[in-house]
Amino acid sequence: MISKNDMKERNRMSILKTIRRGVCSRADISATLGLSKPAVSALVDELIKEGLVYETGRGDSTEAGGKKPILLDFHANVSMIAAVSFNNKHYEVALVDLVGDVKFYVKKEIRISDDYRQTIDLIVQEIRDLIQVAREQGHQQPVIACGVAIRGLVDTKMGIMRYSSAMPWKDAPIGDYMEQSLDIPIFLENDARAGTYVELLNSNGTYGNSLVCVSVGLGIGTGVAIGNEVYRGAFDGAVNLAHATIDHDGPLCRCGNRGCWEALASITAFSEELVRRDGKYADLEFSEILNLYHEGDAVVADVLFNYTGYWLGVGITNILHTFNPEVLIIQGELTSVGPELERKIIEVVHQRVKSAVTKRSVIRFSEHSEKLQVRGAAAVISQYFFSDSHHRLIWK
Ligand SMILES: [Zn+2]
Repeated sequence: MISKNDMKERNRMSILKTIRRGVCSRADISATLGLSKPAVSALVDELIKEGLVYETGRGDSTEAGGKKPILLDFHANVSMIAAVSFNNKHYEVALVDLVGDVKFYVKKEIRISDDYRQTIDLIVQEIRDLIQVAREQGHQQPVIACGVAIRGLVDTKMGIMRYSSAMPWKDAPIGDYMEQSLDIPIFLENDARAGTYVELLNSNGTYGNSLVCVSVGLGIGTGVAIGNEVYRGAFDGAVNLAHATIDHDGPLCRCGNRGCWEALASITAFSEELVRRDGKYADLEFSEILNLYHEGDAVVADVLFNYTGYWLGVGITNILHTFNPEVLIIQGELTSVGPELERKIIEVVHQRVKSAVTKRSVIRFSEHSEKLQVRGAAAVISQYFFSDSHHRLIWK
């Protein structure tokens, strides 16, 4: 039996989510959710008192005439979320509002210590400094939770970083350690899944069925959401397609196997192939190589489209056959090449996919690749904020 209190809590969340989807009136909510007008009014009044909802003004009067309804909106700025991402080169810290807008941000170089606590102490201090900057600029909102995006295997329930090829730590209880210092709930997530949360958050609940995200940077990360939930698998290891074998005799991968997708289609693989064609491309940053492409360098264009674009298309074809997603979004630094690469990948996929059903999946570049990792860390918290299971852990 569901208690009266649980029911009230559930209705409160439904109302909050409805308002978050777009400005609306109490009558709209009542009609959308099938709840009585007095019940909606009472819960809306509570949400206003909590600071989560505010009245924006009056809408148009209904066809029947009468008073113009008062419109309600979600107050994303009532609190802030702290977000952290790091790898073996850099860390990023941000303060973000409840729907993912970055308000304060810093990125710095990092030297990873053998003891995780030394590295985390440094990051915690950076969060404190950033909060101080926010306070000095008049942002007095409480920081209610912190998300951390990490490359590698993460135990999300326990807040433990199990293993990462980029870090020397094993089974590091980063969640508990940060919570002791910051005294707010800390949530860890694998960085590729965090990137998937960014797309879910920005879609505002429109990917009802399935979404796949492929992040292409120095490595490849993949995340899958089914029914608006990010899929983690039984042991938090899903979905890792970077090391799916695409060419059994292909280039050597850092994992020791040959022809993994990452060894063929990542930016690292792109740079390696470019150097195989001509040594003059060695030691160039991806942004510098992109400049050469824009200046008309034919070798760069050939590798970009007929190697990287081709192998991405091959791997994505496998994903479409596995998940048959509504949408497949490509994120990360590679998307800075622009729509011509997006078109090339789609062309390769459509040449290889035979079924009309599979062809219906929409493939596109993300519009959210900037600061993707740290925004992913924050998006995890935002999605939790709007979930029945986690809302009260964050909003007390
Ligand atoms: Zn591999």
